[in-house]
Amino acid sequence: MSKNEKIAVISAASGAGKTTVVNRLLKQDQRFSRVITHTTREKRPGEKNAVDYHFVSKDEFEQMIAQDAFVEWAKVYDNYYGTSKQGIADIIAQGKHALLVIEWQGAKNIKKLYPNAQFILMLPPSMEELKSRISGRGGDVKDITQRIELATHEIKQMLWYDQVIINDDVDQCVKDLILALNDEGAFSMDQQKERIQSFI
Ligand code: 5GP
Repeated sequence: MSKNEKIAVISAASGAGKTTVVNRLLKQDQRFSRVITHTTREKRPGEKNAVDYHFVSKDEFEQMIAQDAFVEWAKVYDNYYGTSKQGIADIIAQGKHALLVIEWQGAKNIKKLYPNAQFILMLPPSMEELKSRISGRGGDVKDITQRIELATHEIKQMLWYDQVIINDDVDQCVKDLILALNDEGAFSMDQQKERIQSFI
C-alpha cells in the first residue's frame, strides 16, 4: 500500500447502530468505500446480495479459505464472515480508502497484516442504553442476559483500538466518525477512558 491508501476498521458493540452511521458516512465522504464482505449467514429481510454482503454457502466459503482468498475471516455465531483480498484490492485500485466493518477477531488479524491500519470502536451512549437496545430486540431473559454478557466481552476485546466514538445522536456520530478518520478530535482510547469504564 502507498502512503495515500488507508485501511480503516470499524467495529461496534451490539446495539451501537453501526450500519446506519457507516451508510451515512459513505454517502457524505466519497474518499471511503466499504469492503463488501462474504458471509454464510442467512440474508435478512431487505438485505441484497453484493450490496450488504456477498452471501455464499458454507462450501463456497470453505473453498475460498482453501484458495487463500481472504485477508481475514472469522466464525461468529456459527456463521463464517470474511474480507476478501479482492475486495480490498478493488477499492485501493479506485484510489479510495477501504473501510472494513468487521468484528474484533477479524480486526486482530488485520492489525497483524496492516499495523498502520486505523481501528475505531463504536459504542452506544451508555451501558444502560446498550442493555435497553439489546432487550428491545426481544428474546427471553436468559437470551438477553447472554447477549449483554457477550457484548461486554466483545468490548473488552477491543480496548486496544485507536479511537472510540459514541453513537448517541446519528448526525453527531457521523461527524465524529469523519473527524476520527481524519485523526482529528478527542477520540483516542485514552481520552475516552471514563466513558469506556462504564462498559467494562
Ligand atoms: P451481522 O450478521 O449482524 O451482519 O454481522 C455480525 C458481525 O460480523 C458484525 O460485528 C459484523 O461487523 C461482522 N462482520 C461482517 N463482515 C465481516 C468480515 O468479513 N469479517 C469479520 N471478521 N467480521 C465481519
